Amino acid sequence: MTTAIVVGSGPNGLAAAVTLARAGVDVTVLEAADTVGGGTRTSELTVPGVLHDHCSAFHPMGLAAPFFEDVDLTAHGVTWRWAPLDLAHPLDDGTAGVLERSLDATSVRLGVDGPAWRRVFGPLTEHVEDIFGEVLRPMLHVPTHPVALARFGLRAALPATVLARAFRTPQARALFTGAAAHLIHPLTRPGTSAVGLTLIAAAHRVGWPVAEGGSAAISAALVRVLEAHGGRVETGVTVTSLADLPPTDLTLLDLAPDVAGRVAADALPAPVRRAWHRFRRAPAAFKLDLAVEGGLPWTDPDCARAGTVHVGGTMGEVAAAEQAAYDGTMPERPFVLVGQQYLADPTRSSGDVHPVWAYAHVPTGYTGDATEAILNQLERFAPGTRERIVGTAVTTPADWERYNPNFAGGDVITGANSLGQLVFRPRPALDPYATGIDGVWLCSAATPPGGGVHGMCGYNAATHALASLRH
Ligand SMILES: Cc1cc2nc3c(=O)[nH]c(=O)nc-3n(C[C@H](O)[C@H](O)[C@H](O)COP(=O)(O)OP(=O)(O)OC[C@H]3O[C@@H](n4cnc5c(N)ncnc54)[C@H](O)[C@@H]3O)c2cc1C
Repeated sequence: MTTAIVVGSGPNGLAAAVTLARAGVDVTVLEAADTVGGGTRTSELTVPGVLHDHCSAFHPMGLAAPFFEDVDLTAHGVTWRWAPLDLAHPLDDGTAGVLERSLDATSVRLGVDGPAWRRVFGPLTEHVEDIFGEVLRPMLHVPTHPVALARFGLRAALPATVLARAFRTPQARALFTGAAAHLIHPLTRPGTSAVGLTLIAAAHRVGWPVAEGGSAAISAALVRVLEAHGGRVETGVTVTSLADLPPTDLTLLDLAPDVAGRVAADALPAPVRRAWHRFRRAPAAFKLDLAVEGGLPWTDPDCARAGTVHVGGTMGEVAAAEQAAYDGTMPERPFVLVGQQYLADPTRSSGDVHPVWAYAHVPTGYTGDATEAILNQLERFAPGTRERIVGTAVTTPADWERYNPNFAGGDVITGANSLGQLVFRPRPALDPYATGIDGVWLCSAATPPGGGVHGMCGYNAATHALASLRH
């Protein structure tokens, strides 16, 4: 029987393990931490009974990508839940840009920008499966849907601040720019519209759901699928060298290239080592998990109904904050992503005390304290926030790296989303999952299609590894 070891139990490690096990391979996953899940863990970080997602919270790509549906996560215990609104982006005048699941309802809310919103997102939403079929894999391939891909590619290639000018109102511009800022890259650069387009098209198709009970439910379900196919996970095992692993046919590394480079050591061919060495890290996350009595007191009532709230002000302010974080300067008013998962999933709250997930984009390796800057941004749009906080947990960039070596410097998306790395990650190669070592493959979010909880990096890497056995 073919055997495989997967190093790391993040969503991509587990997706790789499940893909191999379903193909009849005997799979063991080795995980350094005491619990499985990598970026999909949930626990009581602040006060008893209040459940916080450590990392991933919203899973539009998980639902829109084919892998989770293919392994039938819902049959294995994941229940998806949606907040009344997917996203709101408040402005200082007390209004907000609002994203609803329905393209029509969003267009109506955006008033004069409704027709432009429909023009940009209507065709993308209609052909979302075709487009995702093309972009959730390595870029070097013969497209099956060239027209849909070209339509997407022409817009995705634009800087987000240029595409945002398709809209006239500050609300619509901010709504798009905030979604684009998930890229964590200067929004004036080419290619920075890609993630905003993808996330909004996914929102109009499947919404931005959370997993009931927390994102840990996703990794728990993947482990159930793995075990049902004879695989296993061993936690508390840090792999420091490939040489220490027992003999196996395949090894898949759910690791960032710098971490994988240390584990592979001298076995790694020099050209791959050099290419991985050039792999650039993204700016960092500085996160506050808050237990908030009564929830955040937003000025705009739509923000109190939205699962995600983008806090950063106008398009210009968001772009300036992202540029500063990239340039290594802590923005005075950082872009803050706020998650109110409890609106979709009340099981996360304890009585009237609710978990609020909020992280700012800060410079890579930032050693200062961004707590006040984040709270000031919240107070700006939800005055009275501070009085309602009954518990706080802080995660700094250094804490992220201790939590998971893949998040070095606080880079929680496993690599910068520059145009070069969006197209060729983790290095320019026909097979980006190959490491140059026989039987050893990279399967983390450093590989295509990149960051997020969708399992596609792991699925793709495992598919390449299985194909190599047939040659
Ligand atoms: C604050 C934050 C918010 C986020 N929000 C979202 C969101 O809302 N939606 C979304 O889709 N994504 C989100 N993400 C991103 C998402 O969590 C990651 O892109 C995803 O987890 C990457 O998965 P992965 O399997 O590639 O690696 P990881 O999740 O990084 O998992 C790698 C695993 O390998 C283990 N490991 C590392 N080194 C070793 C070793 N030497 N030996 C053994 N094990 C090792 C680690 O402990 C870890 O468990 C967020 C991330 C963060 C931190």
